[in-house]
Amino acid sequence: MLPSEQPDQGKQTLPTDHQIMGYWLWVVGYWLLNKQQTTNNKQQMQLIDTHVHLNFEVFQQDLGSLENRWREAGVVHLVHSCVHPNEFESIRHLADRFYPTLSFAVGLHPLDVDKWTDSTKEQILALAKIDPRVVAIGEMGLDFYKADNHLLQKEVLLAQLEIARLLDKPVIIHCRSAAALMREVLTEFPVRGVMHCWGGTPEETKWFLDLGFYISFSGIVTFKNARNIQASAKMVPSDRLLIETDCPFLAPVPKRGFRNEPAYVLHVAQHLSRLRSVPLTTLAAQTTANARSLFQLNFSYYENN
Ligand SMILES: [Zn+2]
Ligand SMILES: [Zn+2]
Repeated sequence: MLPSEQPDQGKQTLPTDHQIMGYWLWVVGYWLLNKQQTTNNKQQMQLIDTHVHLNFEVFQQDLGSLENRWREAGVVHLVHSCVHPNEFESIRHLADRFYPTLSFAVGLHPLDVDKWTDSTKEQILALAKIDPRVVAIGEMGLDFYKADNHLLQKEVLLAQLEIARLLDKPVIIHCRSAAALMREVLTEFPVRGVMHCWGGTPEETKWFLDLGFYISFSGIVTFKNARNIQASAKMVPSDRLLIETDCPFLAPVPKRGFRNEPAYVLHVAQHLSRLRSVPLTTLAAQTTANARSLFQLNFSYYENN
């Protein structure tokens, strides 16, 4: 044994300059790798908010910052709902402003059926044909929670289902406290579409899955007491799942009680990813592919105009 090979007994070994340099290179490398992965996740994660009402007065003062926030959250596309065909121009104006990020629907909400006139059907039909950015008919449906004009609601729903079938477009269904009748109607009049802002029990969820419908969850699924809805959210197959905000209503936890906005669809996605035990990026990719498929968002309109 050479003297230089003898172990240093009782003497602390200090790291050499090379070792220190190596350590710092490792730290910087690890940090860079993580940063790159976070950036990649952000770039890869694309969300579609499938139900917004951005034309409402409450949004008109800060549309620019709303857009910044939804982009930052990874939202790449919005589907704008419609409660009355009179909203058509204001929604189209938004589609121009946020081009090519916003597609939209045209229809009459079940709580507005008293505004249905002899000409409304022709009006919706004509408007839906005017603009290729119209990707659905709705929102239409039954809301027996807030109104009891059941017969009129059903009549107006049927008229709009006919429009959807004529134009071969999906429907956006609003259904509250009316699942049994809705199931009857859709069984007699099959169309493709989405049960939006879904609040049904697992049994009801199965009815509409069996009818081929997509199920869209909003901020309600994040509410602590929404056990039934959370159970429903766990059972929807991944190729039928959609997400939405339904903004300005029903902001998800942790924004509950505040004005809702498209960026918060990320909270809905995060909650669903935890409930369903899938990574957020997977859930985002699945729901985005589903939205593209249902609403046929191939973006060819945007590319060719
Ligand atoms: Zn609705
Ligand atoms: Zn709505």
